[in-house]
Amino acid sequence: MSEDIKDTEIKEEKDTPEKVSGSVEESKKEDQDKTTEHKDEYEKYCFMCRRPESVTGKQIDLPNNIHICNDCMQRSFDMMNNGNIDINKLMQNMPNMSGGNLFNMSDLPKEEPKKQKLKKKATAEKEEKPAIDINNLPAPHKIKASLDEYVIGQDKAKKAMSVAVYNHYKRVATDTMDEIEIEKSNMMMIGPTGSGKTYMVKILAKLLDVPLAITDATSLTEAGYIGDDIESVLSKLLANAGNDVEKAEQGIVFIDEIDKIAKKQNVNSRDVSGEAVQQGMLKLLEGSEVEVPIGSNSKNPMVPMTTINTKNILFIVGGAFPGLDNIIKERLLKQSTIGFGADLKDKYDKDRDILSKVTIEDLREFGMIPEFLGRLPIVFTLSGLNEDALVEILREPKNAIIKQYQKLLALDEVKLEFNEESLHAIAKKAMEKDTGARALRAIIEEFMLDIMYEIPKDDSIGEVTITSEYIDGTGGPQIKLRTEAVHHAGV
Ligand code: ADP
Repeated sequence: MSEDIKDTEIKEEKDTPEKVSGSVEESKKEDQDKTTEHKDEYEKYCFMCRRPESVTGKQIDLPNNIHICNDCMQRSFDMMNNGNIDINKLMQNMPNMSGGNLFNMSDLPKEEPKKQKLKKKATAEKEEKPAIDINNLPAPHKIKASLDEYVIGQDKAKKAMSVAVYNHYKRVATDTMDEIEIEKSNMMMIGPTGSGKTYMVKILAKLLDVPLAITDATSLTEAGYIGDDIESVLSKLLANAGNDVEKAEQGIVFIDEIDKIAKKQNVNSRDVSGEAVQQGMLKLLEGSEVEVPIGSNSKNPMVPMTTINTKNILFIVGGAFPGLDNIIKERLLKQSTIGFGADLKDKYDKDRDILSKVTIEDLREFGMIPEFLGRLPIVFTLSGLNEDALVEILREPKNAIIKQYQKLLALDEVKLEFNEESLHAIAKKAMEKDTGARALRAIIEEFMLDIMYEIPKDDSIGEVTITSEYIDGTGGPQIKLRTEAVHHAGV
């Protein structure tokens, strides 16, 4: 088990994992160092068609770090042999040379641009041991136990996720696609904002040490429209895998706000954009080979492309699905009203767990297309967090917020305590915001700022206890000096 996975350590996805540019001098030097140190770490790519060696097959090496693939070499010979050498045409076929200019060796780049490097498929890297080894998976209950250390409540969701992940990576490791086809374990998570959907996926990816790309369904468009193409998420995944194709192909893609691409229920309007995005995702979810630009998510012809197979990528989609509860209620009422209509009408109104009764039919009614749902065989729900759960989130997880503050102040040899009422006061404030656990950090940060600013000023302070009065703004924290005298201070 890897120690301390801190919330802060879990980085959001970046567009490019490598430092793209420093000063020109600096990057030149770095490049030189790199080429000498790790000569074999990057693939060659064809100077003419920009495809990497893994795609083109063995390339021919020319001076100045230039490589040409067999296809391009052959094409050039063919043109010459046919006797009709049209230099302009030849140049146009070579994206690196502006059409019409003669081939001039001094125009050629001295070294390969950094962004366009692609790591070789099999890189023998020394790696830290992940908490859960995907090649030697522990049983689902052990995966759940690891999640338990970070995620409060949501037992059913953690169980469903552990089993799905176990099956998925077992399928990947044993490659049992051909005989009895084991279905992909893509998942759909349904739960209110701030209930831990994104958080669970992040923790899972961290525990498994697989790359993760997070995207928002609302930013995705069908190819050709303004916005990110659906495939762009694979580019992110590749970048987060350090441009290692093999690693990316075992990664996790999380698509948030999936409810926003539901088909519009108003049948009169011809707004099909959401539906088209769902359609566009089908192939990815199921497993297909996708051409992905390396190191960038634009389809610039100068950017080399590589192929990613999504067969083993675990897709998880999540959303709050506002209004889904009413659809479920309606269905349940319809089923049960035969005969005793009237007194059952409000039967489900107080059912806090109504979402967990969701069926595929309800999701279809909401606007998800059947083909899309068919590729997400695991559907589970997360419940809204109550005050007690929020208190636990503050206190219990391995990387709990208050543990982080305690550790910080311990460095100044100050003991930080939160009394029980103060934790409930924070949780109550968060409940008012109606954004689940998401509000906790902001609230805590607001009043901890003063503490973190004032306490290190005074060497004599040995212990600080946060009280509910301090949270409510009616009093101060309890301060204990190193000499043991108790003070009430208005920090
Ligand atoms: P959403 O469900 O909207 O994706 P997030 O997963 O982004 O919500 O939750 C926001 C933050 O709240 C997380 O970063 C995490 O710190 C905290 N959090 C939410 N749910 C839980 C939970 N069940 N256990 C522990 N922390 C949680």
